[in-house]
Amino acid sequence: MTKKFEIITHTSEETTRFAEKLAILLRPGDVVTLKGDLGAGKTTFTKGIGAGLGVRRTINSPTYTIVKEYVGELTLYHMDVYRLEDSEEDIGFDEYFNGNGISIVEWPQFIQPFLPEARLDISLEVIDDLKRKITFYPKSADFQRLCEELLR
Ligand code: ADP
Ligand code: MG
Repeated sequence: MTKKFEIITHTSEETTRFAEKLAILLRPGDVVTLKGDLGAGKTTFTKGIGAGLGVRRTINSPTYTIVKEYVGELTLYHMDVYRLEDSEEDIGFDEYFNGNGISIVEWPQFIQPFLPEARLDISLEVIDDLKRKITFYPKSADFQRLCEELLR
């Protein structure tokens, strides 16, 4: 059984900085999922991951493309699978999840069968205009250690 970890951020910059710290601890092939309502901060969090991975291009919401690929110290695959809602369509997820890049998945509930078991699930909740509750659910011992280090 793995533990869960919670933080509150008070600005979008704080969320970005936190994600940046997380990115530095990620390893090739890691899969991170981001759950939360529209506007919760999933893409904002991903921008921080990109910054931590040394991505220079601006990261935008990939709603109409499903997967966007960014070059950094590790390749970042930013997926927004909202459009695949309940279609169970496999767009070749294995290539991403078993590759050497970092996969960040917005709306993971829509591709549940394709997700690897070992992953870091993150949920973002709106508390008010600027406040967000961010909960980390590590799904492996490695990710639990990563969370312990991140939140130490
Ligand atoms: P999503 O991808 O979940 O739909 P976005 O990241 O695109 O959400 O949008 C989140 C919005 O909320 C942005 O306009 C961002 O500036 C704002 N925001 C305000 N406070 C926060 C916070 N603490 N963390 C993240 N985003 C925040
Ligand atoms: Mg988004």
